[in-house]
Amino acid sequence: MRRKLAAGNWKMNGLTTQLVELDNILKSNENPAVDLLICPPATLIASAAKHARGSAMMIGGQDCHVNLSGAHTGDISAEMLRDSGALAVILGHSERRQDHNETDQIVCKKTQTAMENGLISVVCLGESLEQRESGETLQVIGAQLAGSVPDCATSDTLVIAYEPIWAIGTGLVPSLEQIAEVHDFIREKLTERFGTDMANGVRILYGGSVKPDNAAEIFGVSNVDGALVGGASLSAQDFCPIISALE
Ligand code: PGA
Repeated sequence: MRRKLAAGNWKMNGLTTQLVELDNILKSNENPAVDLLICPPATLIASAAKHARGSAMMIGGQDCHVNLSGAHTGDISAEMLRDSGALAVILGHSERRQDHNETDQIVCKKTQTAMENGLISVVCLGESLEQRESGETLQVIGAQLAGSVPDCATSDTLVIAYEPIWAIGTGLVPSLEQIAEVHDFIREKLTERFGTDMANGVRILYGGSVKPDNAAEIFGVSNVDGALVGGASLSAQDFCPIISALE
């Protein structure tokens, strides 16, 4: 059985005052069967990890460099994330693919480095609206999955997040059939490449405008093992009902 995972991506949001929300999430969360992950901005990782110590909440980064050290101004390595108390990292988010020209090949190298350094990797895949409308969704997802996931991936180290770019921060959500089609496809492709045991253990999250009022129906879709939540993960008031919907 795959444990459900509720992951929050705070993106470039949050000052130290925001850390109180971690305590609020932990206080009001009534669902011990769900794994929790919050990925705050890098500046908050160490203090967030202290807040979460001893609780069911993991803290993660939002990116890491391909290398472990060196002349890379502004970057952070997988080892540094671990050292700060992070246990996971989001990789290949569409905002990084767009803003920082991250290709599948780069995401794959980062994911390998993250896994080799003991971090669970949440690898993000997703099609643009144009690709969805021209019927290329599965082709795009298949190529991103093949290109972004390294051979060393295991069911313990890999989490996939399907995040249609057009659904992120827009309030738009694909139909439940569209979500099911992509999640089933991802499971099938993982099975072809890694075998049934591994593929059946990998959590596949849906991301893109998940809110308290649509979470339950999305979580009812086959092969949806949780969510990667942006805006609604910034407050316990919004995030806790989403966690509770993950029965
Ligand atoms: P959203 O973002 O929930 O605000 O749409 C999701 C994400 O980008 O991970």
